[in-house]
Amino acid sequence: MPLLDIRNLTIELDTPYGRVKALEKVSLTLNAGEVHGLLGESGSGRTLLARAIMGIPEANWSVTVDRMMWDGKNLLEMTAKQRRQIMGSEIAMIFQDPSASLDPAITIGSQLLEAMPSNKQLPFWRRRGSRKLEMQKWLHKVGVKDPERLIHSYAWELSEGECQKVMIAMALANKPKLLIADEPTNLMEVSTQAQIYRLLSKLNQIQNVSILLISHEIETLSQWCGRLTVFYSGQVMESGTTDELLSKPLHPYTKAMLECLPDYDNPQSHKTIMPTLAGSAPPLQHLPIGCRLGPRCPQAQKQCVNQPNLHHLRDRYYACHFPYNIEPENDDSAA
Ligand code: SF4
Repeated sequence: MPLLDIRNLTIELDTPYGRVKALEKVSLTLNAGEVHGLLGESGSGRTLLARAIMGIPEANWSVTVDRMMWDGKNLLEMTAKQRRQIMGSEIAMIFQDPSASLDPAITIGSQLLEAMPSNKQLPFWRRRGSRKLEMQKWLHKVGVKDPERLIHSYAWELSEGECQKVMIAMALANKPKLLIADEPTNLMEVSTQAQIYRLLSKLNQIQNVSILLISHEIETLSQWCGRLTVFYSGQVMESGTTDELLSKPLHPYTKAMLECLPDYDNPQSHKTIMPTLAGSAPPLQHLPIGCRLGPRCPQAQKQCVNQPNLHHLRDRYYACHFPYNIEPENDDSAA
C-alpha cells in the first residue's frame, strides 16, 4: 500500500483575470521510504501540490480530486482538526523561504521549543528540560556548530542557511513519515547545500523517512531521488525511476531539459551559445489549446491540439502523443 496516493488533483485559482487551472489532473504515488523528486520551473505547480498535501489551501483555491489517501486513510473524509494533527506529526514541510517562515519577534529557541514533541511519560516538571535537550540534539544533527548562540538569536540575525537548518530541525523533531522539502537549499552556499542533502539522505536511510524533494535542478534531484516527476505549466509531463527517466526520456520536455545541461566532459569553446528550449512557459490565463508544451515543442504535430492523456507504460507515465524512445501503440492510457 502506498504511503501517499493522489489521483487527478485539479486546483483552480480565482484571479483578477478569471479562474485559471494552476494544477490539472495531477496524480502522484509515493511509497514508504522513497525519495521522490518533483522537477519543474517556477510556477509549474509543484508547491501548490505540496500545499494541497499539507492541507493548507488559500482562500481563492477550488480543489477537485478523485482520490487522496494517506497511509490507508482518506484525507478527503477528515475534519480540519484531523488534518492538522497529521500535518504536525506525520507530514512535515520545509518551506522555500525559511526566514519568512520564522517569527521575527520570538527567539529561535522559543520557537524550536514549541515545535519539540513533549514526552508524556515524564512528570510534567521534567518535560520542558527534556524538550530542551531534544532541541539541542536536533540542532546538532542538522549541522549547527554553535547552538547556544542560535537559540538566543532572532530570525533576522541569522543567515538563510541557519534559518533553513532551524526549519529542518523543527520539521524533523516530530519524526514525520513524510518530509516535503520545497527547494530546501534555495539561496544557500554550495557547501551548506551538500550538507543539507546529505542530512536528508541519512534520515531517509536510517529512519525510513519518505521525502518529496521539490527543485528546478535536474542534477540535484537525480543525485538524491529514486523517482522523478516532471511538471510543466501545472501538469505532469512524465514520471518514472530516475535512471530510466535520465537514460531514456519519453517526453520532449524532459529530453529538452537534459539537452540543456552543460557537458563538463567536453568543455565548449568561449562564447558558445548554450542549447535552450525556445520560448517560455505560458501564463496560466493564456494557456494554449491542447498540449501545454505545444508552442515550444520540437516534436509538435497536428494531433497536439488535442490534450494528451497521461499514458502508463510499465512503471513510467508520460503525457505526449509522440514520445521518444517507444512505439506509441505499446502503451495503455491511464486517464
Ligand atoms: S503532445 Fe505534441 S506538443 Fe505535446 S509534448 Fe507531445 S509532441 Fe510535443
